[in-house]
Amino acid sequence: MKSFNPPVRTLMGPGPSDVHPRILSAMARPTIGHLDPAFVSMMDETKEGLQYAFQTKNQLTMPVSAPGSAGMETCFANLVEPGDKVIVCINGVFGGRMKENITRFGGEAIVVNDDWGTTISLDKVEEALKENPDAKIVAFVQAETSTGAWSDAKRITKLAHDHDCIVIVDAVTSLAGSKLMVDEWEIDAIYSGTQKCLSAMPGISPISIGERAIKKIQSRTTPIPSWFLDLNLVMGYWGEGSKRTYHHTAPVNTLYGFHEALVMLMEEGIENSRKRHRENHYILRDGLESMGINFLVNEDDRLPQLNSVMIPEGYDDAEIRTKLLNEFNLEIGAGLGEFAGKVWRIGLMGYSSRKSNIELCLSALRSVLK
Ligand SMILES: *Cc1c(COP(=O)(O)O)cnc(C)c1O
Repeated sequence: MKSFNPPVRTLMGPGPSDVHPRILSAMARPTIGHLDPAFVSMMDETKEGLQYAFQTKNQLTMPVSAPGSAGMETCFANLVEPGDKVIVCINGVFGGRMKENITRFGGEAIVVNDDWGTTISLDKVEEALKENPDAKIVAFVQAETSTGAWSDAKRITKLAHDHDCIVIVDAVTSLAGSKLMVDEWEIDAIYSGTQKCLSAMPGISPISIGERAIKKIQSRTTPIPSWFLDLNLVMGYWGEGSKRTYHHTAPVNTLYGFHEALVMLMEEGIENSRKRHRENHYILRDGLESMGINFLVNEDDRLPQLNSVMIPEGYDDAEIRTKLLNEFNLEIGAGLGEFAGKVWRIGLMGYSSRKSNIELCLSALRSVLK
């Protein structure tokens, strides 16, 4: 065996996206103990930066030491009790995974289906809430990475609250790329990821849990079925004050990287980050459309950070993506489910959302689609 030196790629798929060099160098700094006072003060800053990213004052805002899927599982493991009715909106892959979490933790999933590539229908959510007055939770994905469709987290949350439900929101792809106001919209429980619009490495899942959700956790009559993800225990390490107790060994260097990503987000400003994602989407869109490539999702429902486009007639999906990788070191994403072989997913997330990447992507596509 020899040392592994990865090829230098440009990552324009559904994640991971390009990691900013500042974040890579932050991760190479010396490892210290996860209970070292210097590390603990970095943890406090990380929580503050994360509160800024989520636009919340929630005390229970912290990074779970595992990828976005673990943030998802943390929310469902803590909030769903056996027998709970949970309304879950499915308009792509990740809504389907939410449903899987609900049933595995003993909940009863009430599914609201929408076509893949479309936004979640508020009318259908309202109908499900009316038909199920005993429902406790509404779960949905704000930014469906599998299709590139956006959903209205503010209004879905309002509907859920009008019917005495709390919400669990997947913001893995939306955080720092789409408008997201946890406190203003009164979102109860939310999870995200680091490798999409935050320009950071994969492997960390930021979460934020509000008062209503905490009450639901505290009023559980059954124990939380996961030891590692039990928020009561995790908070002994990530909670308030200087007295931290060992729960698990935090991924110290990965958290240096995450801290740097938050520093960079604060330098740029969250509004500017969203603006950059949107403006770069328009440039990519115009370039693709001038080549005759069309979008899957209606203009109003599109995510700027994840562009699903129809593969032009007569081209083979895998062959083109392989050429892009081999000839241009460029990664774009394949379609999933019913869109496999029909759609490409071009990510403009985090550090990948920049003009030089767009130029590369357009000229590489022009070259391989000759
Ligand atoms: C990427 C993604 C996840 C999963 O995150 P991992 O870090 O891959 O575990 C969950 N939900 C959505 C919407 C995603 O895009």
